[in-house]
Amino acid sequence: MNTPPQNGRSGTGPRNLAILGATGSVGTQTLDVVRLFPDRFDVKALTCGRNVDLLAEQVREFQPECVAVGAPSQAQALERALSGIAPDVRILAGEEGLCAAATRADVDVVVGAVVGFAGLRPVLDALKAGKQVALANKETLVVGGALVAEALDQSEGRLLPVDSEHSAIFQCLLGEPDRSVEDVVLTASGGPFRDRAAETFGEVTVSEALDHPNWSMGAKITIDSATMMNKGLEIIEAKWLFDLTLDQIQVLVHPQSIVHSMVAFTDGAVKAQLGVPDMKVPIQYALSFPARWEAPHERLDWGELSRLDFARPDTDKFPCLRLAYEAMETTGTAPAILNAANEVAVERFLDEQIGFTDIPRAVERALAQIPVRPEPTLDDLVAADEEARRFVEELPLPASN
Ligand code: NAD
Ligand code: MG
Repeated sequence: MNTPPQNGRSGTGPRNLAILGATGSVGTQTLDVVRLFPDRFDVKALTCGRNVDLLAEQVREFQPECVAVGAPSQAQALERALSGIAPDVRILAGEEGLCAAATRADVDVVVGAVVGFAGLRPVLDALKAGKQVALANKETLVVGGALVAEALDQSEGRLLPVDSEHSAIFQCLLGEPDRSVEDVVLTASGGPFRDRAAETFGEVTVSEALDHPNWSMGAKITIDSATMMNKGLEIIEAKWLFDLTLDQIQVLVHPQSIVHSMVAFTDGAVKAQLGVPDMKVPIQYALSFPARWEAPHERLDWGELSRLDFARPDTDKFPCLRLAYEAMETTGTAPAILNAANEVAVERFLDEQIGFTDIPRAVERALAQIPVRPEPTLDDLVAADEEARRFVEELPLPASN
């Protein structure tokens, strides 16, 4: 990963932001951080998928120059919602609209907080346009990590991790020489079913799976945490962000979510980054880097913290972890197939069309049956994504229960 310039993108002036996915969990928490530092940010662009009512409220408060709605069908609704509030705001729609918002000349920092594959192209375009991207959207790296690496090599674009584990690794690596890393340990809460018997996974309900013990997040990543696909995606994210081999990335279940991740060095030393599980902290750091800005986020209470537990994950119980390792080993379009199959399986689970255990089943089948292309272009990735989506949409599930 190339490190951003020590003075930030915009020198001493405010950071001019485009927030992609402003209405989601990371997006709204990014705006919470902006509220804490009104003089340090100027919000130029906000985008959402469909939640035009919340976007309109955000426009009223932050007065961006431009908004974009991912779903073209919602463009008119957004226009109506904004007519009395911000008649001059530029309204864009669809993927092109998101890309235009992400590459505006008046924007220097893009927050990538869209969920899923839909975030890939706007992030690639932002990097190619030389923007600094604070990236939460891990699916971008899972699917298009090689293209992101290429864009970083060929442009002035910079990438900073927002995902808490990757922010932790990034912080542990600061000041360390190249090639001094032995391996990294990604911590995982283990999700709501860490201690639940695998034999009962067939009966898991949507509301049980949405009930994450430590983090409050969007629906898709919450289900990914319950299946542990989230950690699988994060392994791939770490590989691309920090140029690691797969055998340099370990996962440890750490139920308290206090140690956000660790780096072990070649001399036997280990650095960890700790804190209360609160996404506002890594979001803020990705925006303040290299500075740290004083903020009233919750502090760790050492008196309350009686123990920190760690255990190896059970990949028989959580096959998504194994599938992610396998897809990354295969490379080419395999991670795109893994990701798209998972996105659709999660949607179908949330719609109560399939069971919880059908999620890894669907992903495994997609990976087994869809041919993988090596060294894919963006068009190849889009095609693989579409094929895997269709495959899982048409899969006659529940397969077995
Ligand atoms: P979310 O579902 O709460 O929000 C997603 C945002 O993207 C919303 O603004 C939504 O309107 C927009 N969106 C959805 N589909 C879109 C589309 N097709 N086109 C354009 N916009 C679209 O999700 P989230 O929990 O905020 O997660 C966002 C990303 O950050 C994910 O990739 C997730 O894995 C990652 N992440 C989230 C957290 C967290 O605490 N929520 C932590 C680490 C990483
Ligand atoms: Mg994470």
